[in-house]
Amino acid sequence: MDTAKDKTLSSLGEFGLIERLRQRFPAPEGLTGIGDDCAILPQQSGRDTLVSTDMLIEGTHFLRGDIPPYALGWKSAAVNISDIAAMGGRPTATFLSLALPADLGTAWVDEFFRGYTTLSKRFGAALLGGDTTGSPRGICINVAVLGECPGGTARKRSDAREGDLVCVSGNLGDSALGLRAILEGLERDADIQALIDRHYLPLPRVEEGLRLAATTGVHAMMDLSDGLASDLPHILEASGKGAEIDTAALPLSDTLQRVCTRLDWDPLPFALGGGEDYELLFTVDPDAEKDLDVPHSVIGKIIPCHSERTRRIYWHGTNRAFSGFDHFHRD
Ligand code: ADP
Ligand code: MG
Repeated sequence: MDTAKDKTLSSLGEFGLIERLRQRFPAPEGLTGIGDDCAILPQQSGRDTLVSTDMLIEGTHFLRGDIPPYALGWKSAAVNISDIAAMGGRPTATFLSLALPADLGTAWVDEFFRGYTTLSKRFGAALLGGDTTGSPRGICINVAVLGECPGGTARKRSDAREGDLVCVSGNLGDSALGLRAILEGLERDADIQALIDRHYLPLPRVEEGLRLAATTGVHAMMDLSDGLASDLPHILEASGKGAEIDTAALPLSDTLQRVCTRLDWDPLPFALGGGEDYELLFTVDPDAEKDLDVPHSVIGKIIPCHSERTRRIYWHGTNRAFSGFDHFHRD
């Protein structure tokens, strides 16, 4: 190792590291590997198997004292199943690996499993295995999820076409505002509790993803885990395209608008830069958009992007810059 040239991960960034991995481990012919919400493995049956895995680390993704174990179990399953929804697949099975400190109470573990099972059963994903180990510090949770779809129908990040409309399946920013409310210790009136629930108990958009993937004209799709400002560039980079986004068209819940007005907070950073909404972000041919049978909001359109140096996103209606979440950058 040449230490003079060695850089830290904070200079590379989370996505720089993933890009480095992607270049080193190109997927074999016929398989889709690193870079999308799931890997796609075609089966002899003609159907495709979808696989994804996500980790939740105490201190990074959750604070043990703040999140009820039921919610943590629910969320661990939900964020993984969301990646199957992102491809337009149906979840089939999960594998749960846990590293737990020895002094953790069994009541905590039981509640965690109750939340995990409640969410998984709702979406038909059976727990089929995993791994269990002690942890010297903190709780680490890793879930792997399997899903399936008819061969060739999975929606990738790389399929956005010029002229497509950019759409989201539901409101943006509730989860991020819920997190802010937890961190600031805001009094939990009905509005604040509803936002906190959105943060703790996200619902993956599985049925919506299935319907979208069955619709000709729906091209690129992903789930919103890191925030629109961070996630939309993944579609644009994978597709070699740009986008114009109208910030006035971003769907905001009444609850979010009420709370932001009351506290005199700008909703935009929550809607654009906040993560964990787990709504679907997709692009669709304008002719097909009118007939979509999934509730959605049109927030912009796909435009050409002629070179790497050309700006990829034009945010109309704001002159502020937003960025999403990167695990190696903390500001
Ligand atoms: P998501 O937010 O949808 O979970 P990520 O941003 O975590 O997606 O990951 C993006 C892509 O990079 C995915 O295809 C994922 O499988 C891949 N990836 C992330 N970390 C690793 C790793 N350590 N090794 C191999 N692939 C990885
Ligand atoms: Mg995803």
